[in-house]
Amino acid sequence: MQTVCYDGMEIIPSKIVCVGRNYVGHIEELGNEVPSQMIVFSKPNSAITDAPAAAGPDDVHYEGEICFLCMKQELAGVAFGLDLTKRELQDKLREKGLPGERAKAFDGSAVFSEFVNFDCAAHELSLELSINDTLVQAAGAAMMIHPPEMILREVTSFMTLNDGDILMTGTPAGVGKLTSGDRLHGSVSHGGNVLASKWWTAT
Ligand code: ZN
Repeated sequence: MQTVCYDGMEIIPSKIVCVGRNYVGHIEELGNEVPSQMIVFSKPNSAITDAPAAAGPDDVHYEGEICFLCMKQELAGVAFGLDLTKRELQDKLREKGLPGERAKAFDGSAVFSEFVNFDCAAHELSLELSINDTLVQAAGAAMMIHPPEMILREVTSFMTLNDGDILMTGTPAGVGKLTSGDRLHGSVSHGGNVLASKWWTAT
């Protein structure tokens, strides 16, 4: 089983629950409609990796996201995460009304910094993603259509979050194609103070 790091401990999440189309800017850049109901999908434990990969037959796009590790069905830790997506495949599957797992739940599609405790309100958190020293994504949870506390309420209304399970809260505008050799730096902050951050090089 794959693990993530939370407050110095190795944790085995049983699943990752993700929200789609949660920032208006990102919905507009992909030409999608604002959903009437929260879009929820999941990735299995096997999606977790420390090594984002761009090489392969399908183009992989990055989506930087504020992520939470849950304990006792509450938001316990926060991290920066990447929801890696095979965008072209996702569009094809969606056109046919087929499930999106091949585009969203593949091995290596979930990448996380360390999860750390936070003592601010979850909607006060923000993220930044830079690629090759260029800032490509920057947004606050206050810009989300469904803020983290609402996501937690909605998801737990129909699905149990086991200790260690992860919530990915959707990506803001600025998504794009990942290229082998890209140097990524992702961080989550509160009021200008970086809480968690990590460097990756895409293979
Ligand atoms: Zn996403």
